[in-house]
Amino acid sequence: MPDDLLLRLRNFHSDYFPLHQQRFQDLVAQGQHPKTLFIGCSDSRLVPYLLTGAAPGELFLVRNVGAFVPPYDQSHGLHGTMAAIEFAVLSLKVERIIVCGHSHCGAIRTAYEGAPDEAVALKAWLKLADEALLPVQPSPEALRRTEQRAVVLQLERLMDYPMVRRAAEAGQLSLHGWHYVIEEGEVHVFDAEQGAFVPASLASHSGTGPYPPYVEHDGQILSDG
Ligand SMILES: [Zn+2]
Repeated sequence: MPDDLLLRLRNFHSDYFPLHQQRFQDLVAQGQHPKTLFIGCSDSRLVPYLLTGAAPGELFLVRNVGAFVPPYDQSHGLHGTMAAIEFAVLSLKVERIIVCGHSHCGAIRTAYEGAPDEAVALKAWLKLADEALLPVQPSPEALRRTEQRAVVLQLERLMDYPMVRRAAEAGQLSLHGWHYVIEEGEVHVFDAEQGAFVPASLASHSGTGPYPPYVEHDGQILSDG
């Protein structure tokens, strides 16, 4: 008796693949040329292909807990996310980088509440959100704001990557900060001029950079970035 996952593998091969066979074979023959690096949280409710209507070959994906970007510190550690950014910008020459956080993010909540002691790597990783945390009890409103602040923080870190800054300043690369509100089915995009996240239905563009410092409604500056 095949298990559920095996059945799904067979369905992909028998139902989906024949309909899109040519596309996959073209992508093999010509290689991949995605225009977008999508850095998203690992959360199972965030489905980049659904949100963007992307087809195979269109998104170069990096997912991690929180959709965080490590500081460009040249520590030569085993930085999977950093390696993916370098590959996407230098080799694939992507034209845009999207950083996509989301509502009800467990990474942001855990950054406030603390991870289990045994989760050594997780504890260290969540420090990447420290600068986005607010000095308040994590109410739903505070969590939402923190999720958005964390997205902007990662955009600022991206601009510290020399190859990202170079391409962005040459007009060859745009940066997009997104906050996906799961329960509304809508992405709110960061508008650098307004210094705010705007629902995609009202926004005039999907976001671009480089960004000036992020000033929130209460006048607080997140970072000198
Ligand atoms: Zn998340």
